[in-house]
Amino acid sequence: MSGEEKPKSHGRLRVSVSAQPRDLMAPQRVKGAWAARIVTLFPEAFPGTLGLSLTGKALDQGLWSLETIDLRPFGIGKHRNVDDTPAGGGAGMVLRADVVAAALDQAAIGTPPDRAAWPVVYLSPRGKPFDQAMARRWAAAEGITLLCGRFEGVDQRVLDHYAIEEVSLGDFVLTGGEIAAQAMIDATVRLLPGVLGNASSTEEESHSHGLLEHPQYTRPAVWEGREIPSVLTSGNHAEVEKWRRTEAERLTRERRPDLWAKRRGP
Ligand code: SAH
Repeated sequence: MSGEEKPKSHGRLRVSVSAQPRDLMAPQRVKGAWAARIVTLFPEAFPGTLGLSLTGKALDQGLWSLETIDLRPFGIGKHRNVDDTPAGGGAGMVLRADVVAAALDQAAIGTPPDRAAWPVVYLSPRGKPFDQAMARRWAAAEGITLLCGRFEGVDQRVLDHYAIEEVSLGDFVLTGGEIAAQAMIDATVRLLPGVLGNASSTEEESHSHGLLEHPQYTRPAVWEGREIPSVLTSGNHAEVEKWRRTEAERLTRERRPDLWAKRRGP
């Protein structure tokens, strides 16, 4: 194995020992900050939307860090092949166990072996569905390694050998794990202290108490003949809270009977 290419990090907090632009992209492991390491064939997909708005600002501030580990340099032979035909035949290609393992070994450097402190996850439509509780658990860890699949996926042996957890973004099939990784990192990073700032609360939004959020309104007071529910402009905070609670329960019952049933218990 050889990681000829250095892993790339994003965000401005970098150790720069030389003025060379390449060195400015050297791996940055900000001590103490929550860290995401992504093993991918497409490192250029990152930070993607994670570089924007609140997650992007937090990345620049060093509240979290992002490092991509390119699978390609771990490929075999002159062409750095990372995949091969599936054993048993059939369509498509499968990412090789040895190639993926070499990249995972690099991603593991300096991380705790305890999977609760540092989950190692393969993005997969076969996995456990991602949810807010998982985002909370991940945010409480030191960091995470996410393996993005492509083609038909990865050799099962590497998943078994490294005790990798499979997690799904939902019941549909994407062409690769990169979008799923970004969605899950976004949901996790916004739970880290300081990322949303004081104005926002992750306590009252959808899924934080097993309920969907109540409807939101802002100016203008009347739009297209539609008024804002008068209770919201009444100044009566207790009544506002009651209305929001009722609406959240109504929406959850109507739209997500599965969530509603879970909340009420058996
Ligand atoms: N043959 C596989 C699908 C491969 S899709 C199967 O039927 O299960 C290619 C890659 O996209 C996967 O390896 C995975 O990393 C990613 N992917 C596809 N759908 C996903 C989903 N719903 N959640 C997370 N990752 C997904």
